[in-house]
Amino acid sequence: MTGTTLAPYATHPAQSKGRQHSEAIDPARDPFQRDRDRIIHSGAFRRLEYKTQVFVNHEGDLFRTRLTHSLEVAQIARAVARNLGLHEDLTEAISLAHDLGHTPFGHAGQDALHESMQTLRPDAGGFEHNLQSLRVVDELEERYASFNGLNLTFETREGILKHCSLSHARQLGEVGQRFIAKKRPGLEAQLANLADEIAYNNHDIDDGLRSGLITIEQMRQVQLFATYHDEVSRLFPDVAGRRLIAEIIRRMINALIVDLTQTARQNLQAHRIQTREDVTHAPPLLQFSKPMRAQADELKSFLMHNLYRHYKVMRMANKATTIVQSLFKAFVDDPRLMPASYRHEDERRQARAVADYIAGMTDRYAIKEYKRLFVV
Ligand code: MG
Repeated sequence: MTGTTLAPYATHPAQSKGRQHSEAIDPARDPFQRDRDRIIHSGAFRRLEYKTQVFVNHEGDLFRTRLTHSLEVAQIARAVARNLGLHEDLTEAISLAHDLGHTPFGHAGQDALHESMQTLRPDAGGFEHNLQSLRVVDELEERYASFNGLNLTFETREGILKHCSLSHARQLGEVGQRFIAKKRPGLEAQLANLADEIAYNNHDIDDGLRSGLITIEQMRQVQLFATYHDEVSRLFPDVAGRRLIAEIIRRMINALIVDLTQTARQNLQAHRIQTREDVTHAPPLLQFSKPMRAQADELKSFLMHNLYRHYKVMRMANKATTIVQSLFKAFVDDPRLMPASYRHEDERRQARAVADYIAGMTDRYAIKEYKRLFVV
């Protein structure tokens, strides 16, 4: 809990629905703190260092990776959690784990893997990074003698599974229930989701500007950016380059955090939220105000059109698609090309194991595998 008092509507460790495999209580750490620690020590967490969101890892050392992204999400989420009296360690655990299931090469990699699954093995259930994050902590991590996965608490797992289709929800047991019953997860989970958005929007502007793929003049089309560009230019007329960008982005992140916190407080009051159970039945409470939501949407759409679809990004995405699809097809056609532990008799399980193998790869490992298999 890190020294602050938990609000009554926070997720309290004493009320946790517990772990899948029962474990002795740790006298020194509460269950959510242990979850956070397990995530940091997992192999999938370490691999985030070499996975990318927009830029590919080897394109430059100055860009965000999924590891630094996850740390930024955790930082933003914790700041808000402390303000609202939510459980900081739970918030941090969810934030640090939210991207564990991502494939190499960001969204291009995930789309390619999903498409490959659907095309070559339509009965295998496709690929979705969010479900995969849960699969990593539930199944794929190999760190305990007597069970698979990290054996995290229900609340952390619920937070990791931020969205999921009804058909998947039905196969997931208790953690899928809320999608069927249309209930909300705890505020810590809702918060991690918004912190993710604040983090990636802002760091993508930062990386986009520093890479030269977008310019400050272009960014001024976005109201939120223009507001703080004006303010910083007024306060520091001589500042330019990376200091200018940092001064603007700092203010944007702060504005989003302040708005989110204030709106959450208003929502908690308006819906008379007293307990964690009240949160379950209320509409989403962690939200931006309507005007801020509109500004955040404008920013997202700017980035979509000008950065994520920039021809240089598209070229890399195109390469990523080729790599992921070629690997998938090669491994499904002949599973003997993979380490023995990924081979299965059953064809559906085999397709899933191929997806697990590829999803677990870092950008550079996937490129190496591609070269090993296809380049003489
Ligand atoms: Mg993320």
